[in-house]
Amino acid sequence: MSVPFIIYEQVDKFRRLLQDVQRIAILTHVNPDGDAIGTSLALAHCLRALGKEPTIFAPNPFPAFLHWLTGVEDIVIYKHATTKARAILNQSEMIICVDFNSLARLDEMGEYIRQLPAPRVLIDHHPNPEEEAFVLCLSKVEACSSAEVVYHIIKELGLASSLTLPAVEAIYTGIMTDTNNFLNNCNRPDTFRTVAELLEYGIAKDRLYESVYNNYTAQRMRMLGYALNDKMVVLPEYRTAYIALSREELDRFNFQPGDTEGFVNYPLSIKNVVLSCFLSENTENIRLSFRSTGSFSVNHFSRVHFDGGGHLNAAGGTSTLSLDETIAAFIQSVALYKDELAAV
Ligand code: MN
Repeated sequence: MSVPFIIYEQVDKFRRLLQDVQRIAILTHVNPDGDAIGTSLALAHCLRALGKEPTIFAPNPFPAFLHWLTGVEDIVIYKHATTKARAILNQSEMIICVDFNSLARLDEMGEYIRQLPAPRVLIDHHPNPEEEAFVLCLSKVEACSSAEVVYHIIKELGLASSLTLPAVEAIYTGIMTDTNNFLNNCNRPDTFRTVAELLEYGIAKDRLYESVYNNYTAQRMRMLGYALNDKMVVLPEYRTAYIALSREELDRFNFQPGDTEGFVNYPLSIKNVVLSCFLSENTENIRLSFRSTGSFSVNHFSRVHFDGGGHLNAAGGTSTLSLDETIAAFIQSVALYKDELAAV
């Protein structure tokens, strides 16, 4: 099967780079999602099959709905084990960055990484990667997920037959979560051919869905109900809706990492709403998640106004203003796009 989005010469370069190294650090982005963790686990598996010694690092903890994946117990959380993480990173001969396009997406871990001498390789699908930060960018914006990219790299490296069931489950989980269970960003027939190949390995796809999507606490569901009933604001003139939750509100529902995952998708179910924003108050800043339908680029919107980025229809950003000030800034920014939003 020909897969147009993999550039075979780049995989050859990756193969040559791998020949000279043994200890490899795999890094993923802050607030890691299913694609970040799934791709990292699959890549670690494939590197071990090549006789390498990979270690996976995440800047901060990942959600509980990913804890069932095989191998997650070995992921080093930089925020919690900084000294240990730095000791391993110092020994790493190559750094592979997974599912993000700029070292800024590593938060404070990014500054530490930047001064390390080890060559960096990128495996990703976000637009406009920071190319000067990497010796090789295996970055395919057409791919639905980094998991899809890494699967084809693994195949091209000749390692498809070495994939174990847990590694295939990790790849499938990356694709399933980044496409919101095959709803978003997956119109390429090749994605479904890839999924068909993964099913040939015998993975239990329904069980994987259950593990990710039907694994929430009752408190998380009550928080979702509160967010939709009491906190969602619709701005019909801008075809926009947003939900903002303060630290106090998150604490009231015993917020755990990952609990608000997916909240941003709900307002898009409203007729005529084409832009949705979810704002949440962290200890350090305000996090914003954006979703859009059609041609409105939240990648552009979040880059310009909220120091962020992502994909055409899914992106994130941050703000160091207060929550109320951030909401006001969001509405002001949206107003600049009134005509564009009307035309979606
Ligand atoms: Mn991704």
